[in-house]
Amino acid sequence: MSTGKLTIDLSALAANWRALDALCSGETGAVVKADGYGLGVAEVCRALARAGARKFFVAVAEEGAAVREALGPGPLISVMSGHMDGDSALLRAHDLTPMISSIDQMLRHVERTPRQSFGIQLDSGMNRLGLEPDEWAALRDIAIRQMPVMVMSHLACADDPDHDMNARQLRVFKEMTAGIDVPRSLAATGGILLGREWHFDLARPGIGLYGGLPFAQARTVVALDLPVIQVRDVHPGETVGYSNTWTAERPSRIATLAAGYADGLIRAMGSRARVHHGETACPVVGRVSMDLIAADITGLAREPEALSILGPHQSVDDLAEAAGTTGYEILTALGDRYARTYLK
Ligand SMILES: *Cc1c(COP(=O)(O)O)cnc(C)c1O
Repeated sequence: MSTGKLTIDLSALAANWRALDALCSGETGAVVKADGYGLGVAEVCRALARAGARKFFVAVAEEGAAVREALGPGPLISVMSGHMDGDSALLRAHDLTPMISSIDQMLRHVERTPRQSFGIQLDSGMNRLGLEPDEWAALRDIAIRQMPVMVMSHLACADDPDHDMNARQLRVFKEMTAGIDVPRSLAATGGILLGREWHFDLARPGIGLYGGLPFAQARTVVALDLPVIQVRDVHPGETVGYSNTWTAERPSRIATLAAGYADGLIRAMGSRARVHHGETACPVVGRVSMDLIAADITGLAREPEALSILGPHQSVDDLAEAAGTTGYEILTALGDRYARTYLK
């Protein structure tokens, strides 16, 4: 077998949900958009439901249908893109709850799915999705009479606790929701870590569940081991990979590993990433190819069968740093060629 092995620790995922839930003053939901941050939405949802999650969030209605299929009737499934043209049948068929973000969406919702539950999305300053204060002022009384399941907004800078945007958005959200008797939701992972003032009635963590920053205490969820396809000796002055970007300075043992940028090992990580054999780190050398990367294993006593690129020694955030990106992008880029194992 020459595909990488992606191991997803569902008990660590559940432990991360419980740890975040213990921090929250209100209820804790779970964000499972983008196929559960790339880890497999059905397995992820079932593990989170077993841990106690009852409210799930996806980006689009199609994802919501997959979550409903995995969980069955009962749990709330919120669609954060709201109610778009073409969504009505899916929302109805799978009992999905759109987070309405514009007056147009509100009109569409009451017209096409009048008995379907919904939530309201407010813009508290991020300028991405949600009703602006003046739109909300116009819609507020009518919308509240229809009994929305929640009013939510999203923080732009919550991964930086010192950013003054956090307090500004908190103030705007409080002003926009003052005096209404509807559950409120503001915090994602970063917002949970900011403190109780940001928690309100329901938190919506995503990345922290999957072991990513800013939840530094998270347990590692993902391990990725890459099989060694070939090992060769490279003499000083010889090069490895496309465009000759790496030249051996000493007699070197080079291992060729079975994964590349088509599997989510993005080219930008270049040779700043490492692979590990036990405790020993081996530098990635040369360009990342579509299906292959090379590592300098001169330091190893024996030829390994596989090397680890994600795991206890190199987190998704370490790999992200090597690539100049975030853990979110590393996780959601993980390809579908890996053999996936779920640890219960
Ligand atoms: C993605 C997303 C979340 C989850 O954010 P994390 O930073 O992954 O915890 C919560 N709310 C909204 C609106 C989102 O788009």
